[in-house]
Amino acid sequence: MSTELETDLEAAVERRRNFAIISHPDAGKTTLTEKLLLYGGAIHEAGAVKARRAQKKATSDWMEMEQQRGISITSTVLQFEYHNCQINLLDTPGHQDFSEDTYRTLAAADNAVMLIDAAKGLEPQTRKLFEVCKMRSLPIFTFVNKCDRPGRDPFELLDEIEQELGLQTYAVNWPIGMGDRFKGVYERHSKQIHLFERSAHGSKEALDTVVDLGDPRIEQLLEQDLYYQFKEELELLDGVGAELDLDQVRSGKMTPVFFGSAMTNFGVELFLNYFLDYALKPGIHNSSVGEVAPTYPEFSGFVFKLQANMDPRHRDRVAFVRVCTGKFEKDMIVNHARTGKTVRLSRPQKLFAQDRESIEEAYAGDVIGLNNPGAFAIGDTIYTGQKLEYEGIPCFSPELFAYLRNPNPSKFKQFHKGVTELREEGAVQIMYSVDEAKRDPILAAVGQLQFEVVQFRLMSEYGVETRLDPLPYSVARWVVEGWEALEKAGRLFNTVTVKDNWGRPVLLFKNDWNMHQVQEDNPNLTLSAIAPVG
Ligand code: GDP
Repeated sequence: MSTELETDLEAAVERRRNFAIISHPDAGKTTLTEKLLLYGGAIHEAGAVKARRAQKKATSDWMEMEQQRGISITSTVLQFEYHNCQINLLDTPGHQDFSEDTYRTLAAADNAVMLIDAAKGLEPQTRKLFEVCKMRSLPIFTFVNKCDRPGRDPFELLDEIEQELGLQTYAVNWPIGMGDRFKGVYERHSKQIHLFERSAHGSKEALDTVVDLGDPRIEQLLEQDLYYQFKEELELLDGVGAELDLDQVRSGKMTPVFFGSAMTNFGVELFLNYFLDYALKPGIHNSSVGEVAPTYPEFSGFVFKLQANMDPRHRDRVAFVRVCTGKFEKDMIVNHARTGKTVRLSRPQKLFAQDRESIEEAYAGDVIGLNNPGAFAIGDTIYTGQKLEYEGIPCFSPELFAYLRNPNPSKFKQFHKGVTELREEGAVQIMYSVDEAKRDPILAAVGQLQFEVVQFRLMSEYGVETRLDPLPYSVARWVVEGWEALEKAGRLFNTVTVKDNWGRPVLLFKNDWNMHQVQEDNPNLTLSAIAPVG
């Protein structure tokens, strides 16, 4: 390797941090993202992310459906510089656009920020996303948000994380009071108190005054009962809490916890500083030729997300690639592992909010958007040099199921072609009844929007109008041991068996409770929420 390239790659990896936020709707993801971007200088005023979104909606010719629904299907990769680091924030679609893409984004992330509402604690979407992080052993940084509002006892929140997620916690800072009586946070490492002062006119930026723990003014600054409560909590925390162990953090077993308030921008900078120190840099990936380091001199990466019809005039698709090794350069020619073809990566894009901006180069940990209609499917590897292939992105448990009907027999061919292509691309999972008489495909999706996208695209790209007949299930589990073990298990209650696209057995349940019941009654069956691509 030329020493120049070597130095270039090492420096690039050293500077990079990449993460995704996992949270439940309304926990404050948009607000936190905005504050982080403010620190990075990527935007200059609070409110810009939302405003930009609204403005784009009004003026652009985004996908018809996006306009009809008035929501954003597009998720974005936000890149910003902070303290000489380049931070890549991979947006995880939430709200109505929660879909399998949300999980897949985590396959491209090196770190996760778990954002929790102080009043609500762990919520369903966060738990689900956590499971994917756990599978990948991602380091998880917890931000307990909305401390300026009445919230739950912080010890109780830590306990919930430990008990329910099996993650050890280490509180990096500690809130003094909550809600109306929120006075600030105590930073344990520096032994300093950051005082929270609501700024004049109740405006949204908080002032941050720093005082040492030993400072005699503290007793006066805090009301007496709060002061004693704080001292007591601190003793308890030091007494019962685990020590910070960075190896444990980086292997996803311990989560550093930060308390703050995104809306008032309190505790966000503190969080960001620690995050830069503790987070994993782009690391080693497993591939068909073994482990490859991010500084490996050849370029490689994998597709983790495809977005269709961003521009209806061109019906183009953007393939989002996570760069794993080497250096990407505009117009470079790469090999496509699955098809063996060569592809020229022209018109690469970096995405900021919904603006497209051309990029010249990218390194491990970065995400690039490629404009090559039809060339790519989820999980595909592209590379230069010696052939290598990454492990691919697994299938995640769908939560919505519906028969997809084609009422017009003369359109059978187009229907079949459309369903096959959309499945291959990763737009939706397809399952089939084990009853040979029921041949219609069952669409299986993580979010409702996936159904709508499939129906919309079948209509607009294949000319087939379809009908959906929803099925009353919400949980799917692959039977890891296969058909024989399933048959041996005998009759199972409150579940139906279907087969996935590769003929593997999948059990569908109405709810988690039924699933747990079957699992308890059949300890010999391994029921998995995640399955490798067949
Ligand atoms: P998202 O759905 O996770 O993206 O959540 P948003 O960022 O849109 O926030 C949801 C609501 O919570 C909005 O009304 C925010 O203004 C509010 N919010 C977010 N962070 C805070 C906070 O730290 N304190 C308070 N009081 N409200 C917050």
